[in-house]
Amino acid sequence: MSSKPSRIISDIDLDADGKQFGFLNIPYSRNDSAWGSIRMPMIVIKNGNGPTILFTGGNHGDEYEGPIGLLKLVRRLEPSRINGRVIVIPALNFPAVQAGTRLSPIDGLNMNRVFPGRREGTVTSMIAHYVYTEVLPLADVVVDIHAGGKSMTLVPCAVIHELEDRAMMERTLAAMRVFGAPLGLVLVELDSDGMLDTAVEEMGKVFISAELGGGGTVTTETVATADRGIHNMLSHFGVLNEPLITREELGLTPTRVMHTPEGNSFVVSDETGIYENLVDLGAEVSIGTPIGRVHFFETPEREHVEYKAERSGTLVCRYTPGLIKRGDCVGVIANDYPTPADG
Ligand code: ZN
Repeated sequence: MSSKPSRIISDIDLDADGKQFGFLNIPYSRNDSAWGSIRMPMIVIKNGNGPTILFTGGNHGDEYEGPIGLLKLVRRLEPSRINGRVIVIPALNFPAVQAGTRLSPIDGLNMNRVFPGRREGTVTSMIAHYVYTEVLPLADVVVDIHAGGKSMTLVPCAVIHELEDRAMMERTLAAMRVFGAPLGLVLVELDSDGMLDTAVEEMGKVFISAELGGGGTVTTETVATADRGIHNMLSHFGVLNEPLITREELGLTPTRVMHTPEGNSFVVSDETGIYENLVDLGAEVSIGTPIGRVHFFETPEREHVEYKAERSGTLVCRYTPGLIKRGDCVGVIANDYPTPADG
């Protein structure tokens, strides 16, 4: 990686007290704008010497709870209420959020596969490189808010990974519980290279993600979960001196902590056709329970194919569009996370 500073320039003083709405200026010369750039919003709210939390939304451009919750936060949160620094990037893959697509329409890249990014790369890679070199070193905690996007829908959950450092794992588990989502998921990623998650975890910082719904839209529950999670992360890490909003006080069931221990937690389609979902999100399944069917509208005489659970557990994620292709993830089955009392 080049040691030269990022080509992205910010008009924000990250060390100044107060609230600043500013931009990252990303050079982007193109056919319709020879000396043009992209102005990507970043907001910093700082007071005193407490910890720094970085919140990101719009890592994928069709996931909306993060941008909604973070835009409300930055308008309402006054510096006098905090001790520390809150850095907010509400639309991390800004061109993707503009287009309402998972990936950037400029270079086709997935922001969450290009970290640590490249100074000389295309726009997505340049943004990742800026975040990696200029913002992550300042952060004690990073909260990256996702949803399933247009192709997936999940039980709203805070997400972490299994970490080798036990003390860091306990800190991260505690934060995941405090987030206040219906589900806390210790997720084994299918492909963790290039993720913001991996970059932050390798820096030894606390990383909490969330997957708050999906289908390319939001619900009142998923937005409320984002609002509560954002507040609770600020409170839990001591930036906001205000009480947590607990699920118990709202009359909700406690966060259920689950994990995806094996590769067969993920059910994948081998066929292309019309998808019929057979199990509602949050339902319990056993080995052999049909999760969904693929119907062959081009060959009506052909019997549909069913995809069955290969393990018992709870369906926490499901494929959402009507059309499915070979290789698409049909669903994810999670199991209760073993607590120390379980041995
Ligand atoms: Zn995402």
